[in-house]
Amino acid sequence: MLEIKKKGVLMKTIIEPFKIKMVESIKMTTREQREEIIKKAGYNLFLINAEDIIIDLLTDSGTAAMSDLQWSGIMHGDESYAGARSYHRFFNKVQELTGFKHIIPTHQGRAAERILFEILAQKGKYIPSNTHFDTTRANIEYNGAEAVDLVIDEAKDPNSLHPFKGNIDLEKLENFIKEKGAENIPVCMLTITNNSGGGQPVSLENIRGAKEICLKYDIPLFLDACRFAENSYFIKMREPGYQDWSCRKIAQKIFSYADGCTMSAKKDALVNIGGFLAMNDDDLGLQARNVLIVTEGFPTYGGLAGRDLEAIAQGLDEVLDEDYLHYRIRTVEYMGERLDKMGVPYLKPTGGHALYLDAKAFAPHIPLEQFPGQAIAVALYIAGGIRSCEIGGIMFGKNDPETGTYIPPMLELVRLAFPRRVYTQSHFDYVLEVIEEVYQNRDQLKGFRFTYEAPMLRHFTAQFEMVD
Ligand SMILES: *Cc1c(COP(=O)(O)O)cnc(C)c1O
Repeated sequence: MLEIKKKGVLMKTIIEPFKIKMVESIKMTTREQREEIIKKAGYNLFLINAEDIIIDLLTDSGTAAMSDLQWSGIMHGDESYAGARSYHRFFNKVQELTGFKHIIPTHQGRAAERILFEILAQKGKYIPSNTHFDTTRANIEYNGAEAVDLVIDEAKDPNSLHPFKGNIDLEKLENFIKEKGAENIPVCMLTITNNSGGGQPVSLENIRGAKEICLKYDIPLFLDACRFAENSYFIKMREPGYQDWSCRKIAQKIFSYADGCTMSAKKDALVNIGGFLAMNDDDLGLQARNVLIVTEGFPTYGGLAGRDLEAIAQGLDEVLDEDYLHYRIRTVEYMGERLDKMGVPYLKPTGGHALYLDAKAFAPHIPLEQFPGQAIAVALYIAGGIRSCEIGGIMFGKNDPETGTYIPPMLELVRLAFPRRVYTQSHFDYVLEVIEEVYQNRDQLKGFRFTYEAPMLRHFTAQFEMVD
């Protein structure tokens, strides 16, 4: 991604470390067509057809391009019901990486969460984390326990340049355990990287610190490991002492501090579907397999096809390729540098898998109850066919049950998530041009109001009209 200066030396462009063997056409649309399309969809980007999008940055989940070796793995997947060869390949890869004793395939990350929390999260229990991802929180709450976020204060400031803004506050963690009682905390989680906090990494020192506290109170530590490879790369780049370590060795070190993990393979396993739950505890492993058999499938496939297990096993190797990680993280960083030059406000420093525009600073003239993030997201679609995701008032805002007044969330963001290995530098340059155009005309952005609003998870189905 363009030339960068490293210690005064001008480096060459960091190119995509892959060649393209198969292509998928993008349908081009005109501004007039897009104005029509988005209006018909009630100004909700979830409700437009993917075909009508030029660059789709809605999510990095399940949207990766698989490699030639992953596709050939698909062809020699073993579809035997029990004990398939593909399961063993998957098991060996995950075990080599994580060191965990029990490894249970699931159809995606939230299935692993559901099994874990069905066993561990009852009423009266508390589960602390740096920041729980929405599905993790939902699964904990669904089972009656309370999900608690204890991320460091720097994470709440969009301009703080702390290198590990995903860290859990260790003092808060220990105080929390003392306050609630270790017997009421069945597990402590760490999300790496911290997705809901902007894809920010967690340092090895912090993971070790969390483990020490957990050991002291005899609480197991589990990782939500969806972006373990991106987190490992940040440790190599930013944490003193790890510059000469391979990302694989860093990842193994991370897992060595944990007693188990949940994983969505749709992120750092470079596949379109899959996940797993892993742990060392024999009793928990047995219980988890019993739940798995009832709801997902036999323990050697867990709701996936043999071919999916092959693709995951291969993807877990490819994601730790340092050239890939370098290109991946550099892409986000490059986007941030270009936005700095344009003066466009975004969440700093850039994280692992996405760029987050700071909508409050981008469109300060739009009142929060008229959703400035939504105004920007719609404008990016109209101006350039880009699909982003509002992570602000529509997703997390609430109305006071008594007075009905609107309570906005702390941050009003527009997330541009980057699918893995899908877009090239010219696609990203195009995205930058579109952001620049929208930013230069930001005074003309208009807010939105609901014309339809579902009682829960309203962002998926809401309908809007523009406020004049
Ligand atoms: C995506 C994600 C999950 C859930 O995984 P799914 O495969 O979408 O079910 C859990 N935690 C984090 C941090 C995630 O990013």
